[in-house]
Amino acid sequence: MPITKGYSSRLSPILDDIAAHFGTPFHIYDETGIRETGQALIDAFEKVNNFKEYFAVKALPNPGILKIMKNIGFGFDCSSIPELLLSRQAGGIGDDIIFTSNNTTDIEFREAAANGGCILNLDDISLISKVPEMPELVCFRYNPGSRRTGNSIIGNPVEAKYGITHDQLVDAYRSAIQRGAKFFGLHAMLASNELNYEYMIETTRMLMETIKEISNELGIRFEFINIGGGLGIPYKPEDEPLDIKAMAKKITELFNSFEQENGYAPKFFIESGRYITGPHGVLVTTAINQKNIYRKYIGVDACMSSLMRPGIYGAYHNITVHGKDPDKNNTPVDVVGSLCENNDKFAIQRPLPEIDDGDLLIIHDTGAHGHAMGFNYNGRLRPKELLLRTDGSVELIRREETIEDHFATLNFKKDILTLNASV
Ligand SMILES: *Cc1c(COP(=O)(O)O)cnc(C)c1O
Repeated sequence: MPITKGYSSRLSPILDDIAAHFGTPFHIYDETGIRETGQALIDAFEKVNNFKEYFAVKALPNPGILKIMKNIGFGFDCSSIPELLLSRQAGGIGDDIIFTSNNTTDIEFREAAANGGCILNLDDISLISKVPEMPELVCFRYNPGSRRTGNSIIGNPVEAKYGITHDQLVDAYRSAIQRGAKFFGLHAMLASNELNYEYMIETTRMLMETIKEISNELGIRFEFINIGGGLGIPYKPEDEPLDIKAMAKKITELFNSFEQENGYAPKFFIESGRYITGPHGVLVTTAINQKNIYRKYIGVDACMSSLMRPGIYGAYHNITVHGKDPDKNNTPVDVVGSLCENNDKFAIQRPLPEIDDGDLLIIHDTGAHGHAMGFNYNGRLRPKELLLRTDGSVELIRREETIEDHFATLNFKKDILTLNASV
């Protein structure tokens, strides 16, 4: 059974010391692994002129990580004001940031335009008149409708709330031009956690065909196309990893033909989150209880406040028991947290080695959409985050939540609206 590389080679030998010093539960991220994956992505696309990855901040919105992204040469994809602020704090400015919101508010538009601005990716045609000031460079998010490239998490694009339809495209760019836009991009995101790279090729091809149509209609050129995120990672031991080199090779060919045909090529952007950091994080939690009823349950000191994916998507995360032979998996157990919610389970009927109270369980591949998605239901607090740095030291990059944090929104000035004025 393959185990996350960074865990077995770098983390495993020092994990007991880390747990003893910081206490469990915690997510820990492997800087070396993140940098290797980032560099591999850049290398794969070296023959595409102007390739740029915009790290999807929502996957792992921690300044300790975003600094690494900036240092690798990545930009940031955001969709909220806090994500914009984090991106700017990490050194992102102007074209380093794409703002891909949907159902956008006026305040969000203003923040997107402030402090050096960013690339605005508009989600709807109705927003053209609502942008307080149309930027010179504007992008639209395209929803191609019934084209069958959506996979299960994103679903059928017809039912997805994102983007503008094919029929709206030309009008959208024309209206943007009337409001002062001069440079253009086109975006689509049609997959999530997809291991079959053909989806990305198809999206690239579709965007190229679409910009040709719009260009013919309006006589404009496109600065970039952006295929969004959605590159998958192998969560299950038997999953084959996405073949990034093969994917990049085919996309490079598409760009070469586009350039030959059209005399120019747009820049190529992707907004991957999961692919970059997902495999390079683990949630470390201590077994604290076990019970034998109709099934055997292993109770751990983490719960859905640390990781929601199994609970909300039924997502699979590999689990190993630190220091125990994974080949001695014999007893099927449910690994559970402490919420009064029966879906608070990290694994269901998973064969694991014999577990004793005090054992450390490693829940793998929590480096994206892990901590960030954790919630406070039932008064459960989010855990700390650690970074295993390239020099082997371990840094606390977010402390655990406290009861004071949890109650902070209950401290406010008394405010009562009395509606019955006749009294
Ligand atoms: C969530 C999201 C991403 C990143 O998705 P991954 O699955 O982490 O690659 C990229 N772009 C947009 C617009 C998103 O909403």
